[in-house]
Amino acid sequence: MSDINNEIILGAWCWCLHCQRCYKKGEFRKIKMRKNSIDYQFAISSGHEPVRELCPYVGCDGDVWIDCYAWFGGDKSLPNLPKVPERNKVYSFYG
Ligand SMILES: [Zn+2]
Repeated sequence: MSDINNEIILGAWCWCLHCQRCYKKGEFRKIKMRKNSIDYQFAISSGHEPVRELCPYVGCDGDVWIDCYAWFGGDKSLPNLPKVPERNKVYSFYG
């Protein structure tokens, strides 16, 4: 994947690859990393807080940085998708 994620501005709608729901960039749940996991040790050694920033929807383990894509609704080629998505609604593209 490209680094498309980095182009999403704070407050813009994005779509979670895991639960296929939309939220606004900047919203997330902070989950503590498991101690002794590789991620935990990496965070500590690089001076970061050992937390993961996950999709704000409870029960979803989508990562805010990896699994979040800019919302693509409002495009003429996708007439069924609203420009502003509904919260908590699943937008499935897996067919
Ligand atoms: Zn999610």
